[in-house]
Amino acid sequence: MSNTKENIKRGSCPVYKKCGGCQLQNLTYTEQLSFKQKKVEKLLSKFCKADKIIGMNTPYHYRNKVQAAFRTDKNGKIISGVYQSGTHHIVGIDECMTEDVTADKIIVAVRKMLKSFKLTTYDEDKQRGFLRHILVKRGFATNEVMLVLVTGTPVFPSKNNFVKAITKQFPEIKTVVQNINPYRTNLVLGDVQKVLYGKGYIEDILCGCKFRISPKSFYQINPVQTEVLYNKAIEFANLKGKETVLDTYCGIGTIGIVAAKHGAGEVIGVELNKDAVKDAVQNARANNLKNIRFYQGDAGEFMEAVAEESEKPDVVFMDPPRAGSDEKFLSSLIKMSPKTVVYISCNPETLARDLAYLDKNSTYKIQKIQPVDMFPHTAHIETVVLLSHKKADSYIHIDVEFGEGEGKIPVDSIAKRAEAYKPKEKVTYKMIKEYIEAKYGFKVHTAYIAEVKRNLGLPMYDAPNAVEELKQPRKHPTPEKVEAIKDALRYFAVI
Ligand code: SAH
Repeated sequence: MSNTKENIKRGSCPVYKKCGGCQLQNLTYTEQLSFKQKKVEKLLSKFCKADKIIGMNTPYHYRNKVQAAFRTDKNGKIISGVYQSGTHHIVGIDECMTEDVTADKIIVAVRKMLKSFKLTTYDEDKQRGFLRHILVKRGFATNEVMLVLVTGTPVFPSKNNFVKAITKQFPEIKTVVQNINPYRTNLVLGDVQKVLYGKGYIEDILCGCKFRISPKSFYQINPVQTEVLYNKAIEFANLKGKETVLDTYCGIGTIGIVAAKHGAGEVIGVELNKDAVKDAVQNARANNLKNIRFYQGDAGEFMEAVAEESEKPDVVFMDPPRAGSDEKFLSSLIKMSPKTVVYISCNPETLARDLAYLDKNSTYKIQKIQPVDMFPHTAHIETVVLLSHKKADSYIHIDVEFGEGEGKIPVDSIAKRAEAYKPKEKVTYKMIKEYIEAKYGFKVHTAYIAEVKRNLGLPMYDAPNAVEELKQPRKHPTPEKVEAIKDALRYFAVI
């Protein structure tokens, strides 16, 4: 077949196993899409028939954010690349089939420049040396590139010449930032930043709206499919103008801003992360939007307060993290009873759990399920779901005013209370098993996961009968399985 989707040679990447980033690379792209479709159907078809997954025409080099770690080997050779899955060993790579091509070229160019500028790489064990990581972000529509050099020390010898040389070679680099990270940590970025060139941020355009991207701000990593996803979400919302819209778990405000541009009367966003809320406010300003406000706090607490206080929004977008939503949020959503709910999910398991709750406890009917492939070659699945009431609604619209004073909803105090709250992901044995099977191609028994968890001193309450299930004399997992289980526990941030 000449179709580009078929051109992948299974497992063709030389570091496929070591890197661990692309769990499905042993499948052709068509097989990957069908794997994801089947998974969505298995979990969600009890609610409604899922539409066909929307894949990419060219499922390569889609990542607009690329990171590389640096080290010097014992022969003095400088290596840049990714950490071997679950370790701190760097696997050298010059290009990756999922990463932006320009970003990869910039990383190689910087690596080649280091010696002539007498710059060292950082040694994690000795906690000495200069360059730790490089982070490159590129605006898909604007082609503006941001280069962030993460250094172990603040002193940057001949930095002006270095910046001149790299920006001459890559004129699309619009800003260069030095981020200083002297800590023994797994986090790439440190707290202190110096802008060496340009404004310290770049801009991108998504669904006709402008977004500011700074070194630390969250931004969807596949711009082509993000537009597909957001357009689907807006289509499901079916905005006619003047609706009150809640954008919950809003990140930097992207969905709400796009909804405001598509005629929503008033948009209110809520997000837990303070930096993301700052970016959201900035982004609303950059798009000249006056009908949108953002609150920082837990989405569940916010929903609870809004449901208590007064009349209802017309549309609620919800885009929770992998852990999904929670009962506080969902029960308030039912109470609030907006005409339309658009649920955007990056984890079909928690989506199925939340839809089951809504299906059981409300009059919402799951009307449409649309999977979108945001992360080709990985096992991640994104899905947009449309919910509306089984029966036609009659409802009165009352304008709600948020703020201080009589008749207003005091969302700020809710946001303040919510600051202390941080939800924990409920990781099930099933999620661990599926992750391992997708990535390593073998199954692991519940008892093995339980054994590894027990050895790590983790709480065991969620596997009451794990050991009783064993029908044969008790065996222990092989080291390979132990490593796979630990990898999964790390992936789901249990350890
Ligand atoms: N809608 C955004 C971001 C989705 S990612 C986009 O499309 O880019 C999920 C977001 O939920 C993250 O920004 C995360 O910080 C936020 N989040 C996580 N837990 C939350 C909570 N309990 N309340 C509100 N926001 C939360």
